[in-house]
Amino acid sequence: MANSFDLPQNAALAQTSAAALTTALSGAEIATLHERATDAAANSYSPYSHFRVGAAVLLEADAQQTGEIVAGTNVENASYRLTCCAEQSAIVAAVALYGPKIRLRAIAIVNLNHAASAPCGACRQTILEFGGPETAVFYPSADGETVSTTLGALLPAGFNLASE
Ligand SMILES: [Zn+2]
Repeated sequence: MANSFDLPQNAALAQTSAAALTTALSGAEIATLHERATDAAANSYSPYSHFRVGAAVLLEADAQQTGEIVAGTNVENASYRLTCCAEQSAIVAAVALYGPKIRLRAIAIVNLNHAASAPCGACRQTILEFGGPETAVFYPSADGETVSTTLGALLPAGFNLASE
């Protein structure tokens, strides 16, 4: 997949942050994220919408973590409201594998339907739980380009609650 990124045109702060992120993330890391997300999308359980989505998170490396990548896909349900988004599937899997202290450095979202798929509002809040304004977010726009932005640009007023 080509690494061409559209930056939001109306968010100078987001542009600055995204530019910093593309230097912080290597092209190889971004390409691997997209590959892992695409592989996961092929396993999508989406018999109702046929919208096959994959997401892959890059974890911050620290004493417990080594910059692992964990992927997830969307899993639908006959009771539509029980459907789980790919982004949340990836984050849940990452917690299951690496524990509650994971932090997200980046997340890439893809779909096999050649459609735009920015993370939904619920997923933005879920990304915030394990990330921050600087977390890199890559997703496909309607024109097929990959948007490179930050969670801070996508969710400027996320909900926070002090935790222990
Ligand atoms: Zn979602």
